[in-house]
Amino acid sequence: MEPDPDIQTVPKGFRCKLCDVNIPNEPSLEAHMKGKKHQHLCRLRAKRKAQEENSVYVSGFKPDTSTSELAEYFQQFGPVAEVIVDKERSLYAIVEFAESASTEATLAQLQHCLDGLKLRVKPRERKEFKLASKEKHDRTKPHISLEKLNHELCLTSSVNEQMQKMVEIFQLSENDSKARQLVVQLLQEVLVEFLPDCQIVPFGSSVNTFGSHSCDLDLVLDLENTKAFQNRTRKSEQMGENQSEDGQSEDSILSDIDLATASPAELLELVAAILRKCTPGVHKVQTVSSARLPVVKFSHRQLSLQGDITINNRLAVRNTRFLQLCSGLDSRVRPLVYSVRFWAKQKQIAGNPSGGGPLLNNYALTLLVLFYLQTVSPPVLPSVEQLKNMACEEEECVIDGWDCTFPSQPISVPPSKNTDDLCTLLFGFFTYYSKFDFPGSVVSLRAGCTLPITEFLSRDDETPDTAESSDAARQKTTVRPKLGPVNILDPFELHHNVAGNITERTHKNLRREFCEAEKYCRSLQYQRKSSKGKSWGLVKLFTPRVEGVSSSQDAIEKIPEIIIPFRAAILTQSFRTELSSAAETFRVVWFKKVCSILEVVFNDILKCTPSDQVEISQDQTKAKGDTEEEEVNNNQSLDSSSHQPTAHAGIKRPLSIEEGPSSSSSPQGKRMRLEPSADYPEVAHWNWTQTHPVWAGRRKIRRVLLKTSDETSKPEGGCSSIESRVTQYIIENDSNPKDKLDFQLDALVVGSDECTKAVLKFKETSDPTGHFQDFFHFLDSFLPKMVETLLAKSE
Ligand code: ATP
Ligand code: MG
Repeated sequence: MEPDPDIQTVPKGFRCKLCDVNIPNEPSLEAHMKGKKHQHLCRLRAKRKAQEENSVYVSGFKPDTSTSELAEYFQQFGPVAEVIVDKERSLYAIVEFAESASTEATLAQLQHCLDGLKLRVKPRERKEFKLASKEKHDRTKPHISLEKLNHELCLTSSVNEQMQKMVEIFQLSENDSKARQLVVQLLQEVLVEFLPDCQIVPFGSSVNTFGSHSCDLDLVLDLENTKAFQNRTRKSEQMGENQSEDGQSEDSILSDIDLATASPAELLELVAAILRKCTPGVHKVQTVSSARLPVVKFSHRQLSLQGDITINNRLAVRNTRFLQLCSGLDSRVRPLVYSVRFWAKQKQIAGNPSGGGPLLNNYALTLLVLFYLQTVSPPVLPSVEQLKNMACEEEECVIDGWDCTFPSQPISVPPSKNTDDLCTLLFGFFTYYSKFDFPGSVVSLRAGCTLPITEFLSRDDETPDTAESSDAARQKTTVRPKLGPVNILDPFELHHNVAGNITERTHKNLRREFCEAEKYCRSLQYQRKSSKGKSWGLVKLFTPRVEGVSSSQDAIEKIPEIIIPFRAAILTQSFRTELSSAAETFRVVWFKKVCSILEVVFNDILKCTPSDQVEISQDQTKAKGDTEEEEVNNNQSLDSSSHQPTAHAGIKRPLSIEEGPSSSSSPQGKRMRLEPSADYPEVAHWNWTQTHPVWAGRRKIRRVLLKTSDETSKPEGGCSSIESRVTQYIIENDSNPKDKLDFQLDALVVGSDECTKAVLKFKETSDPTGHFQDFFHFLDSFLPKMVETLLAKSE
């Protein structure tokens, strides 16, 4: 009988390469080959092969040629099943016939003409990414220098080639992989001595196909079987037997610890002790219990490898399998991920050196790339939900209540219809995220689209997990990712924001770098090799970020503009619920609240007075006439629902700070006008006058006032009552009131295709003593913090 190319003989039986499973003996092999999964994958493979053989690759037609025109032309060679045109630039098409004879007939014809243009027609080839397997990058060599990398990249002839080169240079070499396997084997052998039936499983970059020379070795210690062993041993002990069925002595290390009840920290201490005392070559063993998942860190001296061991972290092993699958689905995934990872490292936005930190980790960054590939049109990758539906029964997988089902092999997934090249996709990646509203949306790889943040705002963060709730119920009722400036849901653990560690600062840097990269990719310098030997393509993109050197984006931010970012995490539950019910208009509701707070800050905390210089609109004239009424009715809440989008005459009275913004009786700004335009964005406008230098010497006065008050020490802008008293103090002690400073403030809210935020633009309208710069400089740091403090109290 002909040997089956899918079946490999291995020391413990057979391996089916198609299904990626080991089979112990011949009868099982026979059953496997007749089984549903194997048969299903064989059929799919045959179908894909036929699809490929039945298709031709066409170029040279006019950009406005429609798919039906192409179908009509190729119909002469046989029935056409489908025509896919590259949507981005209409440069190529794939024409799929119903029968392979039509492909042969098409290719046999020497010339094809459509609309007066000569078409180029070629067999459709599935572009497999070619690895330079003989590249020598062994672990002992220092990492490639940037200079050498740039040189190598410049030798190529296109960005596509450069991106492929990135994989060749950075991927794990054979030696690298062997070193990692050796450590896994060593740890397995040692740990199993103490923890019978345990298993050490690698995950993360060592095995997810995106690893690089210097990446760490992430390992899971799976103790499920050891727990079962311990149970059996205990039962037999109770029955008076001295030895377990496996012949292990009762006085093994397991007699000191109950695996069913031990905390992760206790288990890790045990593992750390085994590593320290009994594992050759392992040193620098350290437990980190404060991490989200406690880990034991270690190094291997001879193999110069750093490793992490977590316990029973089966979700991580599964999400690593998911990354492997995505990588196998399309040959463009790896070059994209490698290029983006390197870019992000150069720009200091990803790659926390010791695991924890405020930057994106590589897992989160990789998910951003995969998500972009799900959303590009036509998609390069399917959503996780679609993948689930492509899996067969045997591939169903639920871990800790989370559905982790997806096909084990790429062959189960239809190939993408997207024909964009790498250069276009990388440009597309930067474009997509440069316009992305990170704080106002949630990235969901499961759905393959963004989810509105409002879906996550009404959920109660404090609800405890109920032990008795079923897994399914738990998923539905307590899905509660920690919201932050960047929200990326784990594809499986749906209550986990994998970018929950990102700070406002990292988010700002991230956005700036996306915008800079997008701008660069639009230039010819990115797209074309320089004929004059200048750096081009990825080389310029990978220029390291130098701290302190302002980019063009920074320069733009120097105009008198202050940003109030939307931060879901700081809002009170009741305001989150209000935003949640506002659905897609949540930005306007939030903005109105910010406007109300701005009035409190300028009118009551900084004691500015509404200026007379503004031209009053019709509404405002009316409002001015209503002054007395307003003065009586000054007990107005800042609740946005009660906010009137017209001007209000104000009165001045010191803010009773204990009331906070939610119950503040502060008046509305006299000149504020919220334009209730039906269209987004909304804008607001005020004119104010400041007669005293309320920005000068605040820190010192605050310190003095804090000493005589019950308030605990608060940073600038952290407490409205203190800030109000600081201003009052300055005004009362200003023996020489200066010429007044008039300024105007225009506020608008943006979002949806950029980050949700309020943009505050300031302009001096009369500044005879030149104080505006000092005042603005003070506002630049004070205002965002003060608004945030008041928002955090606001109901
Ligand atoms: P590196 O080269 O930086 O080690 P990596 O691909 O191993 O890259 P890590 O960020 O180290 O990425 O993550 C390793 C694995 O740990 C991931 O594959 C994932 O399974 C898990 N992981 C990491 N970060 C998170 C997170 N924030 N949430 C959930 N799982 C995570
Ligand atoms: Mg890692």
